[in-house]
Amino acid sequence: MKIDIMTLFPEMCERVLSESIIGRARKQGFVDIACHNIRDFAGNKHGKVDDMPYGGGMGMVMAAKPIFDCYSSLFDSKTQEKPHLIYMSPKGKTLTQQRVKELSALPHIVILCGHYEGVDERVIEEIVDEEISIGDYVLTGGELPALTLSDAVCRMLPGVLSDEECFTEESHYGGLLEYPQYTRPAVWHEKEVPDVLLSGNHKEIANWRRKKSLEITKTRRPDMFEKIDLDKNDLKLLKNDNN
Ligand code: SAM
Repeated sequence: MKIDIMTLFPEMCERVLSESIIGRARKQGFVDIACHNIRDFAGNKHGKVDDMPYGGGMGMVMAAKPIFDCYSSLFDSKTQEKPHLIYMSPKGKTLTQQRVKELSALPHIVILCGHYEGVDERVIEEIVDEEISIGDYVLTGGELPALTLSDAVCRMLPGVLSDEECFTEESHYGGLLEYPQYTRPAVWHEKEVPDVLLSGNHKEIANWRRKKSLEITKTRRPDMFEKIDLDKNDLKLLKNDNN
């Protein structure tokens, strides 16, 4: 998969995406990520890419042309299919694990990071396929949202994590929140790891984890719990008060 990020702060994105699991995935060729400076397409010697908003008001607006030219440089419109362009925006649809999964199946995505007051609406209309928000709050720029989206998408690509189970078992993937996790030592600050996890009985461990997932989801996210298709075993686990 290829991910192109269009930003005024390519070093900021490059730095984060060179570290840890995503950095390793890039080196191993599981994903090809490139960060592009919109300022390189300013078309003026001062590198100016923003201007005052028509109609007045605070702040500056990112101009359409440098964004359009940066985007046009990323693929050959005569021979290549148009990549899916996402504008990170607090006005977009809130990102979910389901959408992350769908995006991870695309061959090429381009992410546009806004800054200042945002981006000239006309370029959004012309090239953007989708606006995505990472939550109901406003950040200074689209870089952190773009990094969040890139990280979430990359970790779902084959080979990036050691095993698919790493994400299929996790919160949100199957509509549940994850069960509690423990590691050594078995006793810490007089708190013991639940016995079942030391039992070596895989069926009992799986049942315990499922029960905890159901309970945590029910308490913390009743909206998610309502959507779960509970089977007979789930109902039995929820009734059972042991542990
Ligand atoms: N004036 C805009 C508004 O009220 O909707 C906010 C602009 S914000 C200060 C600057 C840029 O940060 C946006 O263009 C967007 O790219 C990014 N941004 C801020 N909050 C975001 C969020 N919750 N999700 C995704 N992107 C966000």
